[in-house]
Order: sequence, then structure tokens, then C-alpha cells
Amino acid sequence: MAIQVLRSEVVSKIAAGEVVERPLSVTKELIENSIDAGATEIRVEIRSGGQRLIRVVDDGHGIPADEIELAFRHHATSKLQEIEDLRRLLTLGFRGEALASIAAVARVSLASRSAGEEAGTLLVMDDGKVIRRQSIGMTVGTIVTVENLFAKIPARLKFLSKPATEVRLHSDLISRYALAYPHIRFSLTSEKRQSIRPTGDGNLRDVWLKLYGLESARRMLDLGEAPGDNPEGSKPGKRPIISGLISSPDLTRSNRRQLTLFVNRRWIRNHALVYAVEEAYRGFLPKGRHPMGFIELTLDPSELDVNVHPTKAEVRFADQSLVFETLQRQVRRTLMKESPVHRFSAVSRGRTMERREGEPLPGWDEWDLAHPETVRQPSDGFEVPDVSAQRLPVLRVVGQMSQTYIVAEGPEGLYLVDQHASHERVLYDKLLAERARSAVASQALLEPLSVSVNPEQEAWLEKHLAELRDMGFIIEPFGSHTYLLRAVPAILKGGDQAQVILEIIDGAMEETSSQERGWVEGMAISLACHGAVRAGQTLSVDEMREIVRQLETTESPRTCPHGRPTMIHFSDVELAREFRRR
Ligand code: ADP
Ligand code: MG
Repeated sequence: MAIQVLRSEVVSKIAAGEVVERPLSVTKELIENSIDAGATEIRVEIRSGGQRLIRVVDDGHGIPADEIELAFRHHATSKLQEIEDLRRLLTLGFRGEALASIAAVARVSLASRSAGEEAGTLLVMDDGKVIRRQSIGMTVGTIVTVENLFAKIPARLKFLSKPATEVRLHSDLISRYALAYPHIRFSLTSEKRQSIRPTGDGNLRDVWLKLYGLESARRMLDLGEAPGDNPEGSKPGKRPIISGLISSPDLTRSNRRQLTLFVNRRWIRNHALVYAVEEAYRGFLPKGRHPMGFIELTLDPSELDVNVHPTKAEVRFADQSLVFETLQRQVRRTLMKESPVHRFSAVSRGRTMERREGEPLPGWDEWDLAHPETVRQPSDGFEVPDVSAQRLPVLRVVGQMSQTYIVAEGPEGLYLVDQHASHERVLYDKLLAERARSAVASQALLEPLSVSVNPEQEAWLEKHLAELRDMGFIIEPFGSHTYLLRAVPAILKGGDQAQVILEIIDGAMEETSSQERGWVEGMAISLACHGAVRAGQTLSVDEMREIVRQLETTESPRTCPHGRPTMIHFSDVELAREFRRR
């Protein structure tokens, strides 16, 4: 075949593939247009997962009648004129590509009335051409209807997901936007059934409650900045201003999908930032569990390049590491300050979450609370005081139970304290604090222990002797594949110390994290675990008092470094209710 320039219809169909990958991408573009138009209400309706029909209705400023055709032209936009405008961009759109691309692969009708016009205009496009134009009666705003998406592109049609998947992704998408724009009333209707309907009153926590239920909303922590946190003041600059909600350590998921990041009100995907958040949860969550959350970063628009991805899903930061650090620090601080004591709930209640009456949840199928047995089911008009105390109340030790739990009384009821988990927390904090002061107590072994290592372990050891020394291990090479352990951290009383060091090496080598901090914390966790009193060990009242007293002084007394709760709280109110004293 000879080289030819492609016909324009072919070009636009090929180009459309960049922007319009699936029904969800159409909906996303249309929602963004409605947001850019200043809408206060955005109604989305889909049929057959959007393949048959997507309709987005908004009450934004509309498009003047004489500009409607133009809106469908490639590179036609009202949002930007010069390339420099990108640096101060405040709208979500800027390429003028969406409507043109959608019209190239579907039948589109757009009805719009702009403020100041008497009536609206309806334009119907099929196969990229205008097939109808007429005046219609409507209120100010825009209605875009997209039908039979990809009907003429069998190759695309073949690769579409099942409608059910697309419906789930739509719920997901609209939930995220509802969180990012809490003053906009969003709704989603699929096959005539409405599933999402936040009030649009501007309160983020209310939107969360509407989407995920009361029990979840109750467990979300505010990620607000304290005044004075930001040296540049509260103006967004190089350093992002961070706000949002993150889950307390007792509300977790088995995947990372429920962590949503918005940057300058734009939904983005960024592995590094997700990683920053997960790192901040280190020591709060059990392995394999992930936080939920909605996090919003605001920067000066010039600190950000939004023009790096066809669907605008990725952005580039001028100073990525500053953004990373700021985010991580703030999440960490919020967790330290706010995470609540685990609360008791009767297992027999079975239900672990709250749903709105009669309404299905918008596609969230797996509600997984890390410790369903500690989730209290709120009953009508019966409020339990939130014990999100910053520090622990002073507890009086009453006794020991099953040689595993310390029974203690506090001002707000009964506390069952896991003796191992809480001692672990105490030792872990102590170790890290001592390490920071280069003062980890080390204990020389009467008889040095020889440790045989395999070649990988040996290679790793060679490089990390200094860090091990900082943590109290004195270990030196002793011939081939053998090391001599001369001293161990003082908290390792007894036990198989050679085994502990091998465990630490293996753990460190497994760490996927390239960050040094990762394995050092892992080592501290391992040491704390080995050094802590075990379950099954009888403790004297004095020993128990000592653990509780030290726990009271730690910064995160409510979870052990593995992320398990250190204690469960039975409030007076709950006990009274369980005993039907009410
Ligand atoms: P972009 O959003 O990048 O400008 P689009 O193709 O999505 O490109 O839209 C083209 C133009 O049509 C927009 O710049 C805007 O002026 C207008 N427009 C599209 N949708 C709406 C809407 N819902 N309300 C008001 N104007 C709209
Ligand atoms: Mg657009």
C-alpha cells in the first residue's frame, strides 16, 4: 500500500481512542465539563453500563446557541488560549478534545441554554456530522446524551467490560467526584435505579456518610492541617495544602482502590503518593491491609504539569519529594493524634456495617473492617461517646485474665489490654527513641554465638553492619559464611538470638521498599515482638501496672507495631446497655 494521508473521519476515530477508552471515560469527560461550567447539580444516567446510553444533566452556565457546533470541533475550547495559560489553569478541561472525540464514536445530542437566552438549542450529531438542530424549551444548563457508543467500531465493542463492571466503576467515579466537590449534588441512575445521592451541602464527612454509611464515617479521621503547620502560610504554593479524611487503623480494606487522591480538584493516580500514605500507616495496619481515604492536595497550579496523560489522570509535580514528604508527615501525625481506642461490640450482632434504609450501596461489595468483632453497631438515638482521646486515660489495673489480658478500669469504663501487644508497642517506641539518640542498650553475650549465613544473607550483612550496630547488635565476620554475634539489644533477654538475627536479615531482604527506613522499622518491630512478654505468661500486678504505665506514655498506645489493637474498650454506656440497665 502506498503512503497516504488519512481522511479526517479516520483520523478523528483514531484520535478518539486516546480520550474515549470505555463508557466510563465518556462520563468522566462530561462530568468534568459540568463542573467546569459551575454546576451545582449533576445528574448522571446510564443504561447497559453506559454502552447504550450515558446522559449527563447539569445546571451550569450552558453554551450559547451560536457556539454549540464549535464545541464539537477538535481543539475548540473556552478554557485556554495560550500555552502559558496551562500554568494557571483552574478548569479540568483544556484540550477541547472531549466532545469531538465522543461525537466521532457515538451518537451525541447536546441541548444547552446559557444564562440570558430565552430558549435552549438542541444539536444532534451522528458519526461526527450534524443531523438535527432546533430550538427547545429548557432551563439554563446542559444535557448531553451519548448513545450507542462504539456501535460502529466493532473492535472496541468486543473489548468492553461487562455492563455490571462498568456500573461499578461509575459508582466509584461519581463517589470520588462527590467527595472532591461536596457542594455539588451528584446522582447516578443505572437502569432507572438511583444509587448515589449526596446532599451537596458542602460537608465532606456528610458525603462520606451518605456513600459509605455511618459506621465508616465515624471511623474516618480528619486530615486537617493545624495552623502554623505550613511555614508558607495557608496559601497553596510549592508545598501542598493537604486535607481530607483517612481511615482510622481499625477500618481497612484488602486493596488500595479506596484511597482517592485529588490534586487541585483533579482526580489523579500516583503510585508514589499512595505509597507515601501507606508508609505513614506502617505500624498501624496489619500486613496486607490498606487504608481508605479521600485526600486532597492543593498547590499553586504552576507547581504542577497536568498535560502529561491523554485522560489527564496523571500529573507531574515540580517538586515531587516535597509533596511526598508533606503528605506522609501529615498522615502520620493525624494517625498518631487521632486514632481511637478499639471499641467492643457483641459478636452476636453479626452486621458489621450500616446501610441506608432500602438503598443498595453504590457498588462497594467488600466491606472489610479489620476487626469486625470490635465494631459497635449503633442503635437508634443511642450515641456512644467517641473515645478518640489523644492519650490514654489513666488506667487502674484490676487483674489478669487468661494469662493474656490485663483487665483495667478507667474513667470511661473497662479496658482489656493485650499484654503482648501493648508491651510490644512500649518496646518498639523505646527502641526507636533510643536509636534516634544513638543510645540503644546493648548486652554483650557471655559466649559469642556463631551464625551461619547463606551467600545472599552474607552479602546483605556486609553492607548493613553499621545499622545493626545502631540497634544493639554487634556482629562480625568469622570465616566463610559465618558471623560471630557478640552482643544483642538488651531487650532480647534469652530466646534464640541467632534465630532472631537471621529473621531480621530475611525480613530486610524481603522489603520491597527501597527506603532504608523500611527495614530498620521492620527490625524494631521484630525485636519488640521477641522482647515483649508473651501471651500465656503470668504477670504480677506490679508488672502489669508497669506495662500499662509505659503504654500511657507512648505516642500511639492504641495499636501494636503490627497494627493489631492493644486494647479493647467497653464503655460504661455500652455495658449498661448490654445488661439492659437502660
Ligand atoms: P474542554 O473541556 O477541554 O474545553 P470539551 O470538548 O470537553 O473540551 O468541551 C468543549 C467546550 O464546550 C468547552 O470548552 C466548553 O466551553 C463547552 N462545554 C462543554 N460541555 C459543557 C457544559 N456541560 N456546560 C457548558 N459548556 C460546556
Ligand atoms: Mg472537557
